Amino acid sequence: MGGSGAAVGTAAGEVRVAEGFRRLYGAAPEGVWAAPGRVNLIGEYTDFNDGFVMPLALPHRAVAAVSRRRDRILRLHSADVTQGVVQLDIAALEPRSVTGWAAYPAGVVQALREAGHPVTGADVHLVSTVPSGAGLSSSAALEVVVALALNDLYGLGLTRPELALLAQRAENAFVGVPCGIMDQMAAACCTEGHALHLDTRDLSQRQVPFDPAAQGLRLLVVDTRVRHALGDGAYAARRAACEAGARALGVRALRDIPYARLPAALERLAGAGQGEEVRRCVRHVVSDDHRVERTIALLDADDLRAVGPVLTEGHASLRDDLRVSCPELDLAVTTAVTSGALGARMTGGGFGGSAVVLAEEPDTEAVTEAITEAFAASGFTPPRVFPAAPSTGARRLS
Ligand code: ADP
Ligand code: MG
Repeated sequence: MGGSGAAVGTAAGEVRVAEGFRRLYGAAPEGVWAAPGRVNLIGEYTDFNDGFVMPLALPHRAVAAVSRRRDRILRLHSADVTQGVVQLDIAALEPRSVTGWAAYPAGVVQALREAGHPVTGADVHLVSTVPSGAGLSSSAALEVVVALALNDLYGLGLTRPELALLAQRAENAFVGVPCGIMDQMAAACCTEGHALHLDTRDLSQRQVPFDPAAQGLRLLVVDTRVRHALGDGAYAARRAACEAGARALGVRALRDIPYARLPAALERLAGAGQGEEVRRCVRHVVSDDHRVERTIALLDADDLRAVGPVLTEGHASLRDDLRVSCPELDLAVTTAVTSGALGARMTGGGFGGSAVVLAEEPDTEAVTEAITEAFAASGFTPPRVFPAAPSTGARRLS
């Protein structure tokens, strides 16, 4: 599911999705919308610490054909799952009452209604090329495409950040996944040729020009094919450690610890009897916020190549301090760097999923081959390696 059957990178064409809708529901859709998956360039596990992130949209996207209904029926269909049409009564939607993939779009409808928006039933058919469970945010693509479609169809007039917040609410409260705001903001707000510098405290944002191809570089995504399960408690444990750190330091969130004060903060935590786990998490979050700032400064100075080592440093921090990497991600990163890439890091929640690699364009083939060979030599499932040009955020297609 989630595009794993489709060739990665093939566009889920709007015409094909509209035709699928017509076959299912017997009429043309009122419109077709798209929302992308994302990779985060830098700033990991910072979004629930009020910190900074820097995602960019992938060319891979969820495309949804949608029509309003006057009644309370919500019909949901995904071409990427074997399950047929899921039919729900929107008046009966309760947190965690829907299992499986339909919980994501149903959660969006519920979040809109709960916020007082006059949304009734809908027919939805979608197709996605965002690999599912690969750390590329297929879930947020699904939520945001439905949120944008309903916003347009019902004339709700919500802003992109408002839609992202409702989509996050759907995932947190309805699906039951305690994710931060990065994924939904990326799907809703990214623009072509840019990375999105997002302050997750106040959601202020800046589109930072990021165009590797223009400088003879490539950003590669390595999908390790190891499927993460963020619900397994590890994510919640890191989150709890960060919150304990912030409490012990007397700040609202770790974002409030300036990088220059990190050594003093770590000493204070040790003095306050906070264990190794909390200190490592604090060190990761504060230093990764700083890496976002360094990356922005480099991009603003048009020094893209120098971003490479910052990525690799970020990976070491995620691997050694936060300990959210895995052997496949470590192998992808190490092999990328030793085979000539400028830098690499895991991206997303970790424990599997994907890595990003920044490389000179002429080196991309050698880097891709080296990673593929290293995985084969280790007996790992063959990874999928593909280029990622910073693409457009959610939009209406027709
Ligand atoms: P990620 O967002 O990193 O891809 P998640 O675990 O957050 O991983 O979301 C994956 C879930 O999203 C899948 O288990 C499925 O329920 C849903 N999903 C993703 N893509 C699709 C799709 N094309 N059709 C139906 N459900 C999908
Ligand atoms: Mg997700």
